Amino acid sequence: MIKMIELPYPIDALEPYYNRETLDIHYNILYKGYVDNTNKTEEKLKQARETKNFENIKCLEKDLSFYGSGAILHELFFENMGPAVPSSPDINLMEQINKDFGSYEKFKQQFTESSKVVEASGWNLLVWVPNFKRLEILQCEKHQNLTLWGCKPLLVLDMWEHSYFLQYKTKRPEYIDAFWNIVNWNIVNKRFINK
Ligand code: MN
Repeated sequence: MIKMIELPYPIDALEPYYNRETLDIHYNILYKGYVDNTNKTEEKLKQARETKNFENIKCLEKDLSFYGSGAILHELFFENMGPAVPSSPDINLMEQINKDFGSYEKFKQQFTESSKVVEASGWNLLVWVPNFKRLEILQCEKHQNLTLWGCKPLLVLDMWEHSYFLQYKTKRPEYIDAFWNIVNWNIVNKRFINK
């Protein structure tokens, strides 16, 4: 059984950049759905093993990837946001950003432009790729497609319409600009140290 993480701040703490109504639905209904469905899928997999009936195994393992990745990415997303308090990449992460992207500004520009063009429902992610020993930015489709195996997500931005439509309608660039004000770099720095 996986459990929902607690929201690390009050439901209206990200105002005005991310409004209460959006966060309420996103956390309490949509994220909960991914956690519940991951657990239901695990239960069905257990039943399949116990009954030796693997008729639906293809579908169940696909569900596990979709719902499970949805649960994981939402945890990372809610935790890498926070009330607009001053925070920035620390010296370790900044050195790596400078090395791999040229500068913080170049990183921010790539991440912003990359977020704008995520196709359909998906995510934009800053990741550490252990096998390459470098940071990369990846656009993810749905919750589980287009990854580099073994990568560790450091900063994730939900680009599903449900993440911004209530507040920003179709104005994706405004949502992305607002996001930079509520990134909790303290958490991103920790993820990088523990990579
Ligand atoms: Mn979402």
